[in-house]
Amino acid sequence: MSSSHGQLWLFPRAENDSAAPEFSSARGSSFLPQQEIASAHFCVLGSGSSGNCAVLAWRWSLDDGHGEKPDSGLLLLDLGLSPGVVRRRLCDSPVSLDRLTGACLTHADGDHLHPQWLGELIDRSVPLFIHRKHIHAVYRIDRAREAQRLGLLRVFDGQAFEPTISSQPSPLAVRPVALPHDANGSQAFVLRFRQATVCYATDMGTVPDALLDAMVGSDLLAIESNYDTQMQRDSARSAKLKQRVMGPRGHLSNEQAFEALVRVMDLSGPRLPRHVVLLHRSRQCNTPSIVRSVFERDARLAPRLVLADQHQATPWLCVYEGSGLAQPRALLSCESDLAPSPAQAIGVRS
Ligand SMILES: [Zn+2]
Repeated sequence: MSSSHGQLWLFPRAENDSAAPEFSSARGSSFLPQQEIASAHFCVLGSGSSGNCAVLAWRWSLDDGHGEKPDSGLLLLDLGLSPGVVRRRLCDSPVSLDRLTGACLTHADGDHLHPQWLGELIDRSVPLFIHRKHIHAVYRIDRAREAQRLGLLRVFDGQAFEPTISSQPSPLAVRPVALPHDANGSQAFVLRFRQATVCYATDMGTVPDALLDAMVGSDLLAIESNYDTQMQRDSARSAKLKQRVMGPRGHLSNEQAFEALVRVMDLSGPRLPRHVVLLHRSRQCNTPSIVRSVFERDARLAPRLVLADQHQATPWLCVYEGSGLAQPRALLSCESDLAPSPAQAIGVRS
């Protein structure tokens, strides 16, 4: 492999990372094969009712016979931690916000969108991808109209998209999946990088079949496991709040998340995920030890479990490392494997 190979693998390997999958050859007879090496790593910078933010960092180097062309990017999922906190939690990692290429919002509640991010994204000319049902909540934030004027607010509906405004094809594709949560719902994101798939799903009262389908065969699952039912019932919270949280458009209990994951494991056959990350744990109505006692009942889940935390980042989790024949863009596989229909251009609504 070429001399810059080492530069692509800056992340320490997590214990339960399995061998990297190999690339298959690109489809299409007119495609001229090129060699590439690529990697993607995932980290939850913080998760909980005080702020949610996760990151997928990828590197990609293409050798077309005239030398390597290295590229890299960073996609943030939810912006519920302030930009300053995100910078601090990234400072010990090989990743910097200077490589930020986009951000996707599950929904616009305060624990998923910190208002300082609009200015930060404008300063960096980085787009924010948001479902049309949540755009009006974003408009209430300072500088949202300015971001819109600059073309940085990108509205999606049910369609897959590339999370970039660059004219260059992205190696990353995103497919949203609607989740039942409060009046306007939340969006799960199914990220596709080369042959690897990551599912990020938080804030839902029940797990829809479309999410279960997306999780089967994924390489990394990040799903909410919000509360212990008994602790929720015994808590000093108001009856109204308990009803909302435990209702069909509230949050997932440990047991609900566990049942969904067992189902996914059953359906995944030998292709189990490398990592299972549990998100959005309630500080009032849950504990790490209760969560572990629930999920470690399944021997397939136990060695893969990572508990995201409100106050510190998870380790960087390897999602993909591979080398071989290049595929020109992520959506080649996304269109056939993931998306119900080909991705459409994303318009900015006025
Ligand atoms: Zn939330």
